[in-house]
Amino acid sequence: MTELEQLQTRVEKVRRRMNAACARAGRDPSSVLLCAASKTQTPATVALAAGLPIDLFGENRVQELVEKSSAGAYGSTPLHFIGHLQTNKVRQVVGTASLLHSIDSEKLLRAVEKEAARKGIVQDVLLEVNLAGEESKSGVLPKDLPALAALSEDFLHLRVLGLMCVPPRTCDVSAQHRAFETMRRLSAQISGLGLSRARMQHLSMGMSGDFEAAIEEGATIIRVGTSIFGPRSYPTV
Ligand SMILES: *Cc1c(COP(=O)(O)O)cnc(C)c1O
Repeated sequence: MTELEQLQTRVEKVRRRMNAACARAGRDPSSVLLCAASKTQTPATVALAAGLPIDLFGENRVQELVEKSSAGAYGSTPLHFIGHLQTNKVRQVVGTASLLHSIDSEKLLRAVEKEAARKGIVQDVLLEVNLAGEESKSGVLPKDLPALAALSEDFLHLRVLGLMCVPPRTCDVSAQHRAFETMRRLSAQISGLGLSRARMQHLSMGMSGDFEAAIEEGATIIRVGTSIFGPRSYPTV
C-alpha cells in the first residue's frame, strides 16, 4: 500500500465512525468538521492528506505551521491552530490560521486583538477550557470562563466562535461523555450571557480515542491525529 492509499483508508474509516456517531445522535454529518491534527507530519504527508476528504488541518506548533504553510503543504484546505500559544508567537499565527482554538487568558486575548488590529483583520478564536483543572494543561478554568468570554465585548478585531477542550485521556466511555456534556453545558451558559462578540457556534472536542462520544455530545469540530496519520514518531533532537 502506498502512503496515500494508507491515509485514504484511514480517513474513510474515520468518516464511517463519524457518520455512525452522527446517526446515533440524530445529527447531520455535515454539522461535524474533521480536523486532521498534523503535528510532526512532514509537508509531503500533509500535502497528500490535503487531497483527502478532511475539512481542515490543525497544527500545534507555530514553527511547524509556518514551515508547512510556506511550503504550500495545506493547499486550499483551511488551517487552524490547536496547540498552546505563547504571546510572543501570536504575530505568526494571526491571519495565517483561520481559527485559533486555544485562547485561555486575558493576556493572550489582548495580544491577538492587538495583532489583528495591526493587520487590519478580524481573527476568529475559541476559548480553551481546562475541564478537570489539571495543572499540567492549558485552558481557562470553568469558573473563570464567563469573565474571559465577556472581555471579547471590548475587542473589535476578534470574534469568539466557541469553546475547545482536551479532557483527561480515558477509555471509560461514560467518563468521556460526562466531560463533553460539561462542555455543552458551559457553551449554553456562555450563550445565555448574550455577548455580541462571543457566539457559541463551535465546540472543538474529541480526538482519536474519544471523538464518537464528543460527536454524540455536540462536537462541531473533532481533531484527529493518530487515526489518520498513524502513531506519531517524535524526533529525538
Ligand atoms: C495531537 C492532538 C490531537 C490529536 O490527537 P490524537 O489522539 O492523535 O488523535 C488533537 N488535539 C490536540 C490539541 C492535539 O495536540
